[in-house]
Amino acid sequence: MNRDLFAAAAVPRVPFIDRDQHFPVHRIYCVGRNFAEHAKEMGAPVERGTPTIFMKPADAVHLGTDLPYPPGTTDLHHEVEMVVALGRDADGPLAPGEGQALVCGHGIGLDLTRRDLQAIAKDKRLPWDVAKGFDASAPVSALRHIDDARPGPDTLLWLAVNGERRQAARLHDMIFGVDDILVHLSRLFRLRAGDLIFMGTPAGVAALRPGDRYHAVLEGIASLEGRVLG
Ligand code: MN
Repeated sequence: MNRDLFAAAAVPRVPFIDRDQHFPVHRIYCVGRNFAEHAKEMGAPVERGTPTIFMKPADAVHLGTDLPYPPGTTDLHHEVEMVVALGRDADGPLAPGEGQALVCGHGIGLDLTRRDLQAIAKDKRLPWDVAKGFDASAPVSALRHIDDARPGPDTLLWLAVNGERRQAARLHDMIFGVDDILVHLSRLFRLRAGDLIFMGTPAGVAALRPGDRYHAVLEGIASLEGRVLG
């Protein structure tokens, strides 16, 4: 018998492209500073060292085209990122080369950021949660199943705002590849089917304002476009 005091919130579900299937979301992991030119523009050192990892709540996933402008900021930034979807659990820590077998699909997403609140957090050496983990802070496209198409090292991801391209890079420009990140995460967390990984953004992050139109693409795989609401 269900003794829940209230009905549990529904799990966010991301559709697959050209398949009558959905991806139920478990967690959202994000990689910071994974493109050298973006690390530089944020004033951070470019280093191979240890990946920068943070999380967003699963229900930060936003499906659909129009983005609500969040409260508490006057400097909402776009970060276009490849999104990797895990379709299998990891048994435990992964050995190098074992990560790819967990991946069931890819999409394109925006790691929306309250840059003004992030700057305060960095300055005071406080956590980034209010800057990164707010409602609808993880817009994501429908996912392309890996059996239908998969990105390669030369695959381009880009973001245009009001028709002007602001961010673009090829996946081989990432400091840490997908396998590197999955191995690293598996040593810190229990990776599960349903996990999404936002792989980090290229240089060119900037403000999104009410009324802006955005178009995010992972070429040959997925795209997402819409408008920022006022
Ligand atoms: Mn990011």
